[in-house]
Amino acid sequence: MKQLLVATGNPGKVKEFAELLTDLDVEWLGQKDTGYDLDVDETGNTFTENAILKATQWANLTGHYTLADDSGLEVDALNGEPGLYTARYGGAGLTHEERYLFLLENIKSVTDETLRTARFRCVIAMADGDGNVIQTAEGSCPGRIAFAPQGEHGFGYDPIFIPDGQGGRTMAQLLPEEKHPISHRGLAIEALKPFLTSFF
Ligand code: IMP
Repeated sequence: MKQLLVATGNPGKVKEFAELLTDLDVEWLGQKDTGYDLDVDETGNTFTENAILKATQWANLTGHYTLADDSGLEVDALNGEPGLYTARYGGAGLTHEERYLFLLENIKSVTDETLRTARFRCVIAMADGDGNVIQTAEGSCPGRIAFAPQGEHGFGYDPIFIPDGQGGRTMAQLLPEEKHPISHRGLAIEALKPFLTSFF
């Protein structure tokens, strides 16, 4: 059976890929399973460039087929911020809660909910064992920024993001089985599925 590495230190993300791609006849690996350690500098100017940096560097290091994703939240009233800086928004060492409260503070003057539009975006890149990019795929989840955090599920900015078409609930009020089919990452994985299925 072929091995497929997901270049992430988060075992939850490896599980999410495996659950959404159950038909693939592969053994799923996370960074920790490889015995290697590498901190990739995310110096790209786009989600795609950063996903490619992570996939190719981990593939070069380990010789494995490698998937890597890069994602973030774009808020229209903030000219697309935090975007590439979503994970670092507000500065180093903040909790997820401190980061989303910082974002709420930055758009508190936007009181018209129709102007609080935003989207989560995700790009996944796949590299072969020689470190060549062989496929990329994207997913986007449109919605708006809530006025106050709500919900206990998920992670990151989920408590302040209201995805379209879910009855006004925040992402953190959705169960995982409700979030995955509409989420940016779920949609990017879905877009990559036909390629992966024919490849493995
Ligand atoms: P990364 O691409 O995994 O590094 O994610 C970048 C940042 O975007 C994370 O630190 C989270 O704060 C945020 N993020 C990405 N995906 C989600 C999501 O599904 N829900 C909430 N926040 C997310």
